[in-house]
Amino acid sequence: MSALSLSQLPVRVKVCEMGPRDGLQNEAGIVPTSDKIRYIDLLSQSGLALIETTSFVRPSAIPQLTDAEEVMASIDRKPGVTYVCLVPNVRGLERARVSGVNAIAVFTAATESFTKRNINMTIDDSLAAFRDVVKAARADGMWVRGYISTAFGCPYEGRVPVEAVVRVADRLAEMGIDELSVGDTIGVGTPNQVVEVAGALQEHLPVERLAFHFHDTRGTALANVVAALQMNVTIFDSSSGGLGGCPYAPGATGNLATEDLLYMLHGMGIETGVDLEKVRNASRFIGGVLQRDLVSRAYNALEAQLLRA
Ligand code: MG
Repeated sequence: MSALSLSQLPVRVKVCEMGPRDGLQNEAGIVPTSDKIRYIDLLSQSGLALIETTSFVRPSAIPQLTDAEEVMASIDRKPGVTYVCLVPNVRGLERARVSGVNAIAVFTAATESFTKRNINMTIDDSLAAFRDVVKAARADGMWVRGYISTAFGCPYEGRVPVEAVVRVADRLAEMGIDELSVGDTIGVGTPNQVVEVAGALQEHLPVERLAFHFHDTRGTALANVVAALQMNVTIFDSSSGGLGGCPYAPGATGNLATEDLLYMLHGMGIETGVDLEKVRNASRFIGGVLQRDLVSRAYNALEAQLLRA
């Protein structure tokens, strides 16, 4: 497809909240379980349709997320909200199932060196492992999301060819995943690349199932969202407050902030069903727990207004 003009953009967007898992996993501090639960419950009240909640990886692998069972048992699950948990293998799926999880995510990448260092597998091995996970999850009636990291650039391989993304996307689509989230893990993508990747992927899976996961490391995340909207993409990942740094650029911003995304979309007349004030309340809470300033520009602008009032 060719890019839509600004007056033809989609009227509604689904915002997928990454703060509790992707965000907190990339924070230096370890958040007490009760505070994670409170944070997720606050986010649940905002109208977000999807919250990435935790990860059923081997507990020793990610010290920030050893409490997956406890978190899933204790959050107040609101009807209409999809609580997604990362699952790396069949053992993780079994733990998720016992915890009453009904939406999972599997994760691989577009480049071999990243996949090797991140999950110690080749891309093909990771896809082979996921085939069993996705099949079992679907047989159980679970909703399945797939992630492709390093879709725009790789910390080890540099710029990533579109064909590499399409190849992995094709394999995940064949497995019957419900949604594919394509990630700019190191935040190097620019709008022209987004148009190229979104255009290529739409020939392989319905655009209604395509999400983008942008990082704002170099300040291009919102511009990339607009480019994706112009390609009719309607699902975007973000984290409240902009939680989560970038392990490949210490000190830099990682995830696009949910408040920044909502501010822009609402200003453009695009509905999300999400209450920005309520997301900001959740961010304020978790910022207090982490005892650090949050990077979201829209969050900080709102907080400054509050101080002046
Ligand atoms: Mg991220």
